[in-house]
Amino acid sequence: MWNEILSELRTEVSPESYETWLEPIQEVGLEGDGTLRLATPNDSVVLMLKVEYRQRILDAAARLALPVREIDAAVRSTPAPAAIANTRYGPAVQQTLDFKDRSASFNEKYSFQSFVVGSCNEFAHAAAQAVAANPARAYNPLYIYGGVGMGKTHLIHAIGQQLQSNFSGMRVVYVSSEQFMNEMIHSLRYDKMSSFHERFRTADALLIDDIQVLGSRERTQEEFFHTFNALHNLGKQIVISSDMPPKQVPGLVDRLKSRFAWGLMADIQAPDLETKMAIIDRKADEAGLVLPEDVRAMLATQLKSNIRELEGLLLRLTAISSMASRHVGDRVPINAAMAKQALRSIAGSADQASLASIMDAVAQEFDLQAEQLRQKSNTKAIAYPRQIAMYLCKNVLSMSLPEIGRAFGGKHHTTVLHSINKIVKLRRSDAKLDDLLHRLNDRFN
Ligand code: ADP
Ligand code: MG
Repeated sequence: MWNEILSELRTEVSPESYETWLEPIQEVGLEGDGTLRLATPNDSVVLMLKVEYRQRILDAAARLALPVREIDAAVRSTPAPAAIANTRYGPAVQQTLDFKDRSASFNEKYSFQSFVVGSCNEFAHAAAQAVAANPARAYNPLYIYGGVGMGKTHLIHAIGQQLQSNFSGMRVVYVSSEQFMNEMIHSLRYDKMSSFHERFRTADALLIDDIQVLGSRERTQEEFFHTFNALHNLGKQIVISSDMPPKQVPGLVDRLKSRFAWGLMADIQAPDLETKMAIIDRKADEAGLVLPEDVRAMLATQLKSNIRELEGLLLRLTAISSMASRHVGDRVPINAAMAKQALRSIAGSADQASLASIMDAVAQEFDLQAEQLRQKSNTKAIAYPRQIAMYLCKNVLSMSLPEIGRAFGGKHHTTVLHSINKIVKLRRSDAKLDDLLHRLNDRFN
């Protein structure tokens, strides 16, 4: 039963949440009264289940017409599976959630300067600039919303970096909503709510990304509500991003919806043709690619609105043109045939997610041959891409640890586990990696 519920939930929560909180749970059994007993690797997972996932699980069970009325979770005591689960989820979760003295880390690439302005995003861009110039005066909160890959995170990072450079010493706190929730659970678990409050309520500006993630997570929303009020009362700037306007975010409580309406809503629309052209030109320029006119036009008309996808396409074009060259380091001029080849691999059905396509894609990103990922080599140049490929095999293909081990030249499952954990952890602090994983994920989904 739990497996059925899991696959239902898998489509609803982020891969990160899924891996951290749901996947390690095992079913113990169903009681006569409809209570589904679950075993978890540690207290944090029990708490998270009770606080944030109970209703979702019950809803999923109802949709699947399963006879589950209630859930009950406890830390499992059986040593065998727990031994693995603990290495994976116990210490890993605790380490990654240790948020003491972590200052906001921004991706330098995401600046106002590198943001291409067009009619689709000029309003959001102007609002973001106003906030960065006049925090807590212009618009508070600023709520930016738009579809996937349209530049919300980019704008938020730009605001954060601009604030820090405009006002030295300003405490800018940037978190994803996911992180906010994880830190809250961690703080509840370890009785550290006061430091949690301090971290968020002493910010001069709070930038919180992807607020839709908090939909239906009532406890976290309550906490965020108090954070919001505390900061707003102190006249501190709050910036929120979401994939939808507040009214449409499923499971967002009314009092937050009404708070968000106090400030300014700024939407980012899908880029029009002209903006797409401008973005293509800018990104090609940054990548040192020269695009003939027919290729520019082809890319702009055939690409969908996701700008991350566009970036992936240009990277792929770069790879295609370097591979076509006989001389290392040289590139063959881009032509329409190459563009078609690159588009084929990205458009529509995306890449068929398979072990081979994941290995190819990762190898390409690192200028390696897919074969090399299977080699025994432990040099960083190979080990790091291999860890990324393993992570994707788990996330995209749901392969088991031993399967992944076999696919990568016979690695032990604990090595695989270690590799995947490393990427999970690293991705939170390394914006470049996070970006890459997003792009690769998009390609296979
Ligand atoms: P979102 O958070 O809305 O899903 P991101 O901010 O992560 O999207 O943007 C996806 C990628 O597209 C990033 O690499 C970002 O730099 C790029 N991007 C998005 N919009 C623009 C823009 N207007 N100009 C330049 N790059 C952009
Ligand atoms: Mg984003």
